[in-house]
Amino acid sequence: MKKQIATIGLEMHCELKSNSKVFSSAKNSYSETPNSNIAPLDMAFPGTLPVVNKKCVADALKVSIALHCKQPEYIYFDRKNYYYPDLPKGYQITQMTDPVGVNGKIEIEVNGKLFPVYIHDVHLEEDSASLDHFFDTSNIDYNRSGVPLLELVTEPCFHTAEEAVAFLEHMIRIYRYLGISDADTKKGQIRCDVNVSIADEDANELGTKVETKNVNSIGGVAGTINYEIKRQTKLKEEGRYSEVEQETRRWDEETLATIHMRSKVDAIDYKYFVEPNIPKFKLSKEWLDEIKSSIPRLHLERKQDYTENYGLSSYDAEVLIKEKEVSDYFEECLNLGIDAKSASNWITTQILGYINKTGMKINDLYLTPKRLKDLIDETNKGTISSKQAKEIFAKVIEEEKEIKDYISKDNAQINDKEGLTKIIDKILANNPSQIEEYKNGRTNLFDYFVGQVMKETRGKANPVITKEILTEKLK
Ligand code: ADP
Ligand code: MG
Repeated sequence: MKKQIATIGLEMHCELKSNSKVFSSAKNSYSETPNSNIAPLDMAFPGTLPVVNKKCVADALKVSIALHCKQPEYIYFDRKNYYYPDLPKGYQITQMTDPVGVNGKIEIEVNGKLFPVYIHDVHLEEDSASLDHFFDTSNIDYNRSGVPLLELVTEPCFHTAEEAVAFLEHMIRIYRYLGISDADTKKGQIRCDVNVSIADEDANELGTKVETKNVNSIGGVAGTINYEIKRQTKLKEEGRYSEVEQETRRWDEETLATIHMRSKVDAIDYKYFVEPNIPKFKLSKEWLDEIKSSIPRLHLERKQDYTENYGLSSYDAEVLIKEKEVSDYFEECLNLGIDAKSASNWITTQILGYINKTGMKINDLYLTPKRLKDLIDETNKGTISSKQAKEIFAKVIEEEKEIKDYISKDNAQINDKEGLTKIIDKILANNPSQIEEYKNGRTNLFDYFVGQVMKETRGKANPVITKEILTEKLK
């Protein structure tokens, strides 16, 4: 059998953050008491009409712009007709003909290399209610009915699970940087339909695609792709490729396998038509420009900036951009004139260490970039040692005081060369046998002498000057 190439396309759903639902005034939160956040429209009561949530459209457009899609001239919606208990209206309001974005392209990083991803379209729609199935009953929670959902459809442009996962992680970051969703997979805010096919390496056409619906974790997406590639390849090896049919499967977290749900021989006809209850509205250039200008610099651009223009390692840059708040904090440090490497060192070790330990948010720390600058300045001036700076760091946060309050004569670092020489002379005079041993080759005793100086000065001796004097004296 010829070598097989897998092809993968993703349909990624993301629940948007908003106060109210996308077409009704009910609260957008379904984590509360079931069926408590429902407006008459969400239950399809007669006579109710949808009203478009402008913020949701703006957020969807942000994504469209960030993915370099083409935006439509008019915003309008379509009806996708089908019945299911989680959809009381009997249709879903979505966008089919003219979605908020088409034909996008972005570059993501896969294994340290840039990888192009082609976006078929991005469209805004409403979520359905959620169903919970028990042994012999099912519960419906309409709180989710009408929650704004952004669906992003990629071209079949991935060939491995790794590429597809890198894209999902990239998009989750973009959604968070744009502030339009928490994109938390654990809360079901990200759900994917995963399409996989295989074909001979030199084939001109793609193979038959198999769709696995509603995969709600990153691990699940990777698992689905790898399982499907294996399953389809095995069938092909056995001469049973005709058994790979257009079907819908689901991912089973327990057996780590995909399972047949239903065949999809012909495309389902949803009898789409333009949603008549929502007037078309023209997308003005002014509004688009306003939305564009609200888009912050995204994570990959920041990472490239940090490594190329500020000399940070790719590892450190990655840690800094992981969360927008941390990256913003770092950039504020740069604006204040803190050297990039010291800012990065402080943030990636002390600050993130503290945050991880206490669960605090970086913006809530009393140690603002300005106060961090004071701390670094004092260290650079030699008023305090770097060890003292670390102690002061924790105190500033806990006691909410200024850096200068911790810098007294009492704990100032000893930089005075003459004074240090006197102390060192005394120590050397008290340790003749150690000097003898040192001179006979036990050079690691050097640290012993440094230790003695620190003990004598209660850690306040400037370590650099101390070492200089000791090197000179022990020659
Ligand atoms: P459908 O009409 O069944 O919805 P589409 O052509 O609209 O199918 O594609 C839906 C998703 O499937 C897209 O993400 C697309 O990239 C992906 N896809 C399409 N054809 C293939 C294929 N042969 N192999 C893998 N993924 C595919
Ligand atoms: Mg859809």
